[in-house]
Amino acid sequence: MTIRQLPDTLINQIAAGEVVERPASVVKELVENALDAGARRVDIDLEEGGVRLIRIRDDGKGIAADELPLAVSRHATSKIASLDDLEGVTTLGFRGEALPSIASVSRFSLSSRRIGEDRGAVLEIDGGRLGEVAPKPHPQGTTVEVRDLFFNVPARRKFLKAERTELGHIEEWLRQLALARPDVELRVSHNGKPTRRWKGEGDQIDLGLSDVRIGEALGEEFARNALRVDHSGAGLRLHGWIAQPSYNRASADQQYLYVNGRAVRDRSIAHAVKQAYSDVLFHGRQPAYVLFLELDPRRVDVNVHPAKHEVRFRDARLIHDFVYRTLNDALAQTRAGALPSAQT
Ligand code: ADP
Ligand code: MG
Repeated sequence: MTIRQLPDTLINQIAAGEVVERPASVVKELVENALDAGARRVDIDLEEGGVRLIRIRDDGKGIAADELPLAVSRHATSKIASLDDLEGVTTLGFRGEALPSIASVSRFSLSSRRIGEDRGAVLEIDGGRLGEVAPKPHPQGTTVEVRDLFFNVPARRKFLKAERTELGHIEEWLRQLALARPDVELRVSHNGKPTRRWKGEGDQIDLGLSDVRIGEALGEEFARNALRVDHSGAGLRLHGWIAQPSYNRASADQQYLYVNGRAVRDRSIAHAVKQAYSDVLFHGRQPAYVLFLELDPRRVDVNVHPAKHEVRFRDARLIHDFVYRTLNDALAQTRAGALPSAQT
C-alpha cells in the first residue's frame, strides 16, 4: 500500500476509539461540556442504556450558529489557545476532540442558542457526514443528541453490554460528577421515566460538598460515619470526607478523588490514603472517601490521557506526604476521641 492521508471521518473514528468506550463516556464528555459552559442545570435523557439515545440539554452560554461546524471539527476548542493556556488549564475539556469523535460514531445533532442571540440553530451529523446549519428555536443553552451509538462501528457495538449494565456505568459517572458539583442540578430520565434528580444546592460549591448530597451519593451510612477533612499547606488544600475506620468496604467502590475538580485515578495518592488507614483497617478492607485536592493548575499536568482519567504531578512526593499526613492526623483524632481513658 502507498502512504495516504486518512479521511477526516476515519481520523475521528480512530480518536473515538480512545475517548468513546461506551455510552457512559459520551455522557461524561457531554456533561463536562455543559459544566464548562457554565450550566446551572443539565437534563440527561437516556433510552436503552444510552445506546439508543443520549440527550444532554444545558442552560449554559450556548454556541453561536456560525460556530456550530467548528464545535464539531477536530482540534477546535474555545478553551485554550496556547501552550501557556494548556499548562494553566482549569476547564474540564481542552482537546477539542469529544464532539467530532462522538459525531463520527453515531447519529448526532447539536442545537444551541448563544447567550445574547435571539435565534437558535441546529447542525446534524450522520456517522461523521456533516449536514448544513439550519435555524431552530432553542432556549439559551445547548442540546446534544446522540442516537444509535456505534451504529456504523459493528466491532465496537458488539462490546456493549446489557441495558442495565450500561445504565449502571452512566449512573456511576453521574454520581462522580454530582459529588464534584453540588451547585448544579442534574436531572436524569431513562426510557421516558425520571430516574434521578440531583438538586442544585445554590452556591454550595464555595462551602464544599454538603451532608445532603454526600448522603444521596454514597448513602446515609457513609454520611453518618464520615469525618470532614479540610487542611491547607504548601500551596495545597485537601478537603472532603473520609469514612471512620468502622465503616469500611470489601472493594474500592467508594473512593473518589478529584484534582482541581476533575475526577482522576492516582496510584500515589491512593497509596497515601491506604497508608494513613493501614493501622486502623483490617487487612483486605478498603477505606471509603471523597477527597478534593486543590493546587495551582501549573503544578499538575492534565494532558496525560485522552479521556483525562490520570494526571501527573510536578511534585508527586510532596503531595503524597501531604495527603498521608492530613488523613493520618484526622484519623488519629478519632482514635483519641474513641478512648475515654486518654482524656482527662
Ligand atoms: P473541548 O471540550 O475539549 O473544547 P469538545 O469537542 O468537547 O472539545 O467541544 C468543542 C467546543 O464546542 C468547545 O470548546 C466549546 O466551545 C463548544 N461546546 C461543546 N459543548 C458545548 C456546550 N454544551 N455549551 C457550549 N459550548 C459547547
Ligand atoms: Mg469537551
